[in-house]
Amino acid sequence: MIMFYLFITCLIILIMFFCLYSILPTIIIRKFKLGIIKNTNAAGVALTFDDGPNPKYTPELLDLLKKYGVKASFFVVGSKVEKYPEIIERMSKEGHTIGIHHFKHISSWMLSPLHLKKQLIKTEKAIEKYSNQNVHFYRPPWGHFNIFTLLLSRKYQIVMWSNIFGDWKVQTCKKSLLDNLRASPRKNSILLLHDCGTTMGADEEAPAYMMKNLEVFLKECQKQTQFITLKDLHLQEQQ
Ligand SMILES: [Zn+2]
Repeated sequence: MIMFYLFITCLIILIMFFCLYSILPTIIIRKFKLGIIKNTNAAGVALTFDDGPNPKYTPELLDLLKKYGVKASFFVVGSKVEKYPEIIERMSKEGHTIGIHHFKHISSWMLSPLHLKKQLIKTEKAIEKYSNQNVHFYRPPWGHFNIFTLLLSRKYQIVMWSNIFGDWKVQTCKKSLLDNLRASPRKNSILLLHDCGTTMGADEEAPAYMMKNLEVFLKECQKQTQFITLKDLHLQEQQ
């Protein structure tokens, strides 16, 4: 019986620790927008893409953006940057902004302060090695924070999103993505899409369907909508 109570006590302490370390900081930071942005102050749309680079879909997406003269921002996974450096080189040459999305696609809830710092530094180094840009932006996977995130990532601007579409699922792309893209605000907005479907919970083919809808959206609104990349905002802020 004593062992049972000991077990329950340990379990409760562990759950409380986990909540204080991860869930509570995530809720507070996101609700009160502490050290993060969910919108820009620019009269335009910032298209952002997470989880790449992907050897199949990211080059196709870069072709699509080039076709419509759109500059976007990519939050990349550092280990994939090292695997596909030529995609990062191209992204950079074509004027897109590249930010950190951890070295592996792992939640900050599972990372010690030391491991989180390593995820940031390794990804920053990988991006800077293969692009000609300094890293200014960070988006934590799944939008998860731990109690040390703001302190350890203080040299970056943390960029969340104003609109998220569930485009990591093929069904959502088919059903609602285009309507929701059309309904998204044309100024101050940060739209979150994904150029890789290999993350846990995603459909591998989803980026193909995302791009089909994105092309229709770009075709419809390119003339009356300004698309901005986060790098430009950063430059404006420094002037
Ligand atoms: Zn992600």
